[in-house]
Amino acid sequence: MNSRNEALFQRAQRTIPGGVNSPVRAFRSVGGTPRFIERAEGARVWDADGKVYIDYVGSWGPAITGHAHPAIVEAVREAALKGLSFGAPTASEVDMAELICELLPSVDMVRLVSSGTEATMSAIRLARGHTGRDAIIKFEGCYHGHADSLLVKAGSGLLTFGNPSSGGVPADFAKHTIVLDYNDLDQAEAVFKARGDEIAAVIVEPVAGNMNLVKPRAGFLEGLRRLCTQYGAVLIFDEVMTGFRVGPQGAQGLYCITPDLTTLGKVIGGGMPVGAFGGRRDIMEKIAPLGPVYQAGTLSGSPVAVAAGMASLRLTREAGFYDALAARAARLADGLSAAAREAGVSFSADAVGGMFGVYFSAGVPASFADVMASDRERFNRFFHAMLEAGHYFAPSAFEAGFVSAAHGEAEIDATVAAARAVFAALR
Ligand code: PMP
Repeated sequence: MNSRNEALFQRAQRTIPGGVNSPVRAFRSVGGTPRFIERAEGARVWDADGKVYIDYVGSWGPAITGHAHPAIVEAVREAALKGLSFGAPTASEVDMAELICELLPSVDMVRLVSSGTEATMSAIRLARGHTGRDAIIKFEGCYHGHADSLLVKAGSGLLTFGNPSSGGVPADFAKHTIVLDYNDLDQAEAVFKARGDEIAAVIVEPVAGNMNLVKPRAGFLEGLRRLCTQYGAVLIFDEVMTGFRVGPQGAQGLYCITPDLTTLGKVIGGGMPVGAFGGRRDIMEKIAPLGPVYQAGTLSGSPVAVAAGMASLRLTREAGFYDALAARAARLADGLSAAAREAGVSFSADAVGGMFGVYFSAGVPASFADVMASDRERFNRFFHAMLEAGHYFAPSAFEAGFVSAAHGEAEIDATVAAARAVFAALR
């Protein structure tokens, strides 16, 4: 064994649980040795053995302009030269807040944090503080970071309490989280009818990207909006993944829905740690120091991270950015689907803006149950064969994929060509 990836993985496992600082990186779902990445540029990443891959993970979403975009790297360098962190307000975070409020009409005020988890955790606390209610609704298969209230799976019946889906989450917390089926509006309607005056918030990924890619059915998001308005609950769109990824105004712009609160991350940090939550002024004014709901952060609004985020957002404002991005993702989804069809492999693919899903199932899934019914074993073989051929897809059948502005037609076509050979072998 003279693979540096393997040697690093062995070494890492002695001092880091599972050898990784975030579980999906460990390749547990697909098996094998994670690639330790040494550098990345444009659409490509290089591993510790010097092998190059066309990358469809994109740091799990942030790398929308391609890795190490010169404008972002330069913005980080310039900011770093002026000092890394002050724990005091800066002009650049005001610029960032103004830009987010300008780009997302639903956001009157916004607060910056350092991760998506912090954004959703804070938004939930704010919704509870605003409404004076404890219960929240989330949907199975949606991931909103790892705050206690959000690591909850469905109870045994519709109107029962949720159960912790992680060790260390008290059942007393989980019982306030009601877990429903994504895309099932009737279920949400029934729960609001029964318990509407207890529900502080509905949190939803407006396009689900953490159970592979699952689009909202026509009327689902509109229905959630209507129910929240009717029962006085706060509608939270978790756009940590979809924000500035599926279009210039995120999923809320794409589907023309106005949430009460929005959570952001990934793209707005351009590869640096930035998250945000924002929305209606009357709700946001409940946050400390204006209001009674506490939230804070030593590194919140980090000048270096904000510089990267602003540079990233500026690049996405260029004319035609999202049209080109969506065209690339569609070219990939269509190309993979056609290649699988030629080979007679049961497969489908879908894309929204710069996000895509690949599914080893005959149709595109519309629910968590559909996703779970796909052929995982075949996905794992596809994943490893593609990796071997130099195409890095997410190491799990339950994650969405991402393209960037640096993925040209040449990269997409090379990936489709590799997949054609892999599908033929999978048949
Ligand atoms: N919400 C969504 C929709 C996400 O996709 C993620 C991360 N994948 C999070 C929240 C949590 O973000 P972070 O990993 O930055 O804490």
